[in-house]
Amino acid sequence: MARYTESVCRICRREGLKLFLKADRCHTTKCSFEHRPHPPGQQGQGRGKKPTEYAIQLREKQKARRMYGVLEKQFRRYFAMASREKGMTGENLLRILERRLDNVIYRVGLAGSRAESRQFVTHGHYTVNGHRVDIPSYLVKPGDVISIKEKSRNVNRLKEMADNLGTHVVPSWISVDQNAVSGTILKLPDREDIQVPITEQLIVERYSR
Ligand code: SF4
Repeated sequence: MARYTESVCRICRREGLKLFLKADRCHTTKCSFEHRPHPPGQQGQGRGKKPTEYAIQLREKQKARRMYGVLEKQFRRYFAMASREKGMTGENLLRILERRLDNVIYRVGLAGSRAESRQFVTHGHYTVNGHRVDIPSYLVKPGDVISIKEKSRNVNRLKEMADNLGTHVVPSWISVDQNAVSGTILKLPDREDIQVPITEQLIVERYSR
C-alpha cells in the first residue's frame, strides 16, 4: 500500500493548521505545530508572495487529502463518485471521506488518529456488523455497527481506547455504546455534521479546471 514517507508534522506546518495526524501527541505541548507554526523551509519559499487562485485551490485539495490520508488517485475517484451523486459535489465528497472506515473508527474514538486507525484496520482488529473488515476505505452506511474484535480487546492500545470510549466528542451522526465498545452509524452526515476546516468549493473548482 502506498503511503507518505515525510514527517507528518511537516504536513501540518505546510497546510498551516493542525491536522491531528498523530495520535496523543497532537493534544500535548509536544505538537511541533505549536512551536513552529510556519511552513517548512519558509525562508526559501518566497515568503510574502500572494498565492494565485490555482495555488489556493491546490492547497485546499491537498489539505483535505492529507487530513483523511487519501492518495491522489483515490481522491480523484472519490471526486468522480461525488460528481455522479445528487446534490452539491463538494458536500458529497466530504461525506464520502467521512464514511471511510478508518475515519469512522477515529471519530468513534476507537483509534487516536486516522493513521493509527488505518494501521489497526489492516491488521484486522475491527468488525463491522460482527464481521472482520480489514479495508480502511470501506464506506460505512446507516445502521452499521463498528467495534473492536473480541480477541483484539487485550491489545494494550486498543484496550486503552476501549476504556476511554465516550470521553471525547463524537459527531451527531454516530452513537457510541461504551458497554458494547461500539459505534453505530445513525445516518449519513450532512455538511453541518462535518466539522472540518475545509472549503470544499475550492476543491471542486480545482478539479473543474
Ligand atoms: Fe500535526 Fe499532530 Fe504533528 Fe501537531 S503533533 S504537527 S497536530 S501531526
